[in-house]
Amino acid sequence: MSTETESLGYFLPYALALPESSGKDESRSQLSSRVYLPAFSIAAVATVLVAIGWASRWGGSNFAASMTGLRVVLVGPVTIAILAAFLVVERLHPAQRRPIFARGYRQDLLYTILNATIVAPLVVALSLSFALVARRTLPWIVLPRFGFLPRSAVIVLIFVAMDGCNWLAHLMNHRVRMFWRFHELHHSQEDMSVLTVFRTHPLIHVSYLMTLVPGIVLIANGAVPTTLLVAYAGFVAFEHSNTNLGFGPLGRIFVSPNYHRIHHRLEGRQDVNLGFALTIWDQLFHRAVFPTKETIRADTGLPGRPLRVEQEAEVPRHLSVLVAQLIGPFRPLDRDTDITGSPATPSR
Ligand SMILES: [Zn+2]
Ligand SMILES: [Zn+2]
Repeated sequence: MSTETESLGYFLPYALALPESSGKDESRSQLSSRVYLPAFSIAAVATVLVAIGWASRWGGSNFAASMTGLRVVLVGPVTIAILAAFLVVERLHPAQRRPIFARGYRQDLLYTILNATIVAPLVVALSLSFALVARRTLPWIVLPRFGFLPRSAVIVLIFVAMDGCNWLAHLMNHRVRMFWRFHELHHSQEDMSVLTVFRTHPLIHVSYLMTLVPGIVLIANGAVPTTLLVAYAGFVAFEHSNTNLGFGPLGRIFVSPNYHRIHHRLEGRQDVNLGFALTIWDQLFHRAVFPTKETIRADTGLPGRPLRVEQEAEVPRHLSVLVAQLIGPFRPLDRDTDITGSPATPSR
């Protein structure tokens, strides 16, 4: 009898579960075995934001002018010259020696083209719409002009606050699975270069919209000059380069290539060194790991390659890998993979 009760006991949860599971639940679980549903909410937020901006004519902002501004930051002549110089520097003093046309470089070139063409208008649309919604729903966040502060001080303030917001959004990308699914593409690069800065999912920009808040709050004090945005973008690109460079004592304050490579390393925690330009945020929150001889040449990428990468097959198939990487966030969840893409069981 007791054996029978025990064996019934094993089946009880299943027996109880059966009548409760409605057709709706079943179809939902069938759906979630085919796709990762939460990823669609990011796509939905992007769609709603763009629709609001479109319907409101971008709140009176000049879409074309903003687009030109972003293009200047992304692929303007100064940016291209900076990127080209960095590509030469990383050939001269590399952290890891690689062929000049390594697979990862070619794949990231595709992302560079994708950013300059399709992603740039999306980022402009998202940014203008977000600023519009923020100004309309929370008009009090726009502060009046500070007569007592020189403009240069305001710009420094905006940049430091923007960098802090980038750090926070980046942390969220590592801690919230829904966002990690979009961010893991950036971490999947095994041949890092300056162009890896462009290896991002187009929808990841939704998570970085909060970075606009300091600029919106202080807009009465003047907009941030495009030149400085180019410098910031160039700086963030450079920290992805394959250059063996740690900035000496300045590497304690500014993010160097050797510092950021630790964030991309294959082995060990990747939710450290989240800073974009400044290391102070990582230091404040005990997430700073400074480079050593061992970390400089560390391999990068994701353990177990949860996302298709151009390095895995005999033939790289760049375009089909690109498509697989872009639909990657929507693929069903692999239960054996933890939030940072590492296999769930091994020590980290
Ligand atoms: Zn990251
Ligand atoms: Zn990175």
